[in-house]
Amino acid sequence: MSAAGVAGVPAQDRVVSYGTATGIADIATEAAARLNLTHGRDNKWHGRCPACGYTKHTLELAVEQDRIAVSCNACGDITGIAAAMGIPRDLVRAPSPRPSNVARALDTWQSATPAAGSLVEPYLRSRGITCPPPASIRFLSRQRNWGDGKTYPAMISLVQRVPGADDHAALELAPY
Ligand SMILES: [Zn+2]
Repeated sequence: MSAAGVAGVPAQDRVVSYGTATGIADIATEAAARLNLTHGRDNKWHGRCPACGYTKHTLELAVEQDRIAVSCNACGDITGIAAAMGIPRDLVRAPSPRPSNVARALDTWQSATPAAGSLVEPYLRSRGITCPPPASIRFLSRQRNWGDGKTYPAMISLVQRVPGADDHAALELAPY
């Protein structure tokens, strides 16, 4: 697997080859085929992540504007996924969060209670994290798990990024 670009030229103006593919849509299609991803009704490809190799279908790939948007629910390692696909990192981005998803995630985080005194503290200690949980980490007594549909206590964290970075504030739900 290989890809080549011309340094210093904006990504959308570059001719990038990826096997026999040129153009972002063709590159995405070929990458999806090489990774044995399945094209869904949502016009995105789904399958196993080449970066972390998680056994479930945690990888999502789509063409978004002039980039290939990738995400993995297991590792979230966009740089690693780009490298594993052999595609220049600047052609790959995190998907834009849908405003409705962001609003729902923020509502969920705001409905959660502080981590102090909750199951979050012994959980973090069991993982070797002994400092007090930051305010960004909170506790939900009941959260539905997308994997099995059951309800569990959950830790929820507000993911904050450096302003100006090429991505958006988002939330991450971590099943307990
Ligand atoms: Zn992954």
